[in-house]
Amino acid sequence: MMNDIGDTDGAREAQVEVKDLVKHFAQRGGFLGRNPRVVRAVDGVSLKIAHKRTLGLVGESGCGKTTIGRCILRLIEPTSGEVHFEGVDVLGLSGRQLRRMRRDMQMVFQNPYSSLDPRMSVLSIVGEPIQTHLSLSHSEMRDRVVELLEQVGMSGDHIYRYPHEFSGGQLQRIAVARALALNPKFLVLDEPTAALDVSVQAQVIAKLVELQQDLNLTYLFISHNLTLVHYVSDTIAVTYLGRIIEHASSEAIFDNPIHPYTQALLSATPSLDRELRQQRVILTGGVPDPVNPPPGCVFHPRCSRAKDACRQEEPRLVNAGDGHMVACHL
Ligand code: SF4
Repeated sequence: MMNDIGDTDGAREAQVEVKDLVKHFAQRGGFLGRNPRVVRAVDGVSLKIAHKRTLGLVGESGCGKTTIGRCILRLIEPTSGEVHFEGVDVLGLSGRQLRRMRRDMQMVFQNPYSSLDPRMSVLSIVGEPIQTHLSLSHSEMRDRVVELLEQVGMSGDHIYRYPHEFSGGQLQRIAVARALALNPKFLVLDEPTAALDVSVQAQVIAKLVELQQDLNLTYLFISHNLTLVHYVSDTIAVTYLGRIIEHASSEAIFDNPIHPYTQALLSATPSLDRELRQQRVILTGGVPDPVNPPPGCVFHPRCSRAKDACRQEEPRLVNAGDGHMVACHL
């Protein structure tokens, strides 16, 4: 099903546009792999992000958020759909054109402990993309790495150190410096603080917000933490089982969530307000198996407001007013 996305970003032109993105993975199953299964990780996602804006992609683990980000950057190939960056058909590129496009679109991964090679110095980690894509001398490359480290709030003296000598927050800053090495325009930030101590999460987020302003960056910010997404995002898309089920401005999602799943996610955020805590909606069960999604509304097995139509007909993403898009029969 195609989830059409409304223009919740005013009249701003989209820098990144995704249309009806699908990613299915084939999985071996049954005796001698005779019954292959199809995992529907992403099932018809459309979204737009305007220049210098942040779209937050939020949902539980296993909802396809990371797969959407990886498909946009072609770190994995989508099954079908369209991805456009500044009007260029990204899925139609190959060879040199694709390598050139990758300079503009980079990703920061969730876990810096595993995304950075422990055998490489900071100079090699951050300098690697510079050496691969730009013809700079060693001293020019070294100067650029020092500049990048300072940009992310670290000392240039750290270039000859190795990953084990840094804290998690410092490692994620190094990962951000590497992502910025080729002066990208668009970053996919995949749970960039999920592996960090709470005490350093705020510092890393503040640095990402500052870098966006200074370098005119566009972000796709992926997280399961709705409060964090609300803080950094201009618009928010809520994902469930590979689909977008609600999409609106950050304020609208927080002040007036319409979809029962978004309401449940919001009510689960920690609050000091006793009344709010008592109104909590507790989601039962887990996200259904993407190999065999439920018929009708994929959220119906967990929805306390499900009615007969919900079990038969999949709701389309429609405009509930002011570009607030929601996929729910209610
Ligand atoms: Fe719940 Fe029905 Fe809305 Fe799905 S369509 S979220 S089951 S009310």
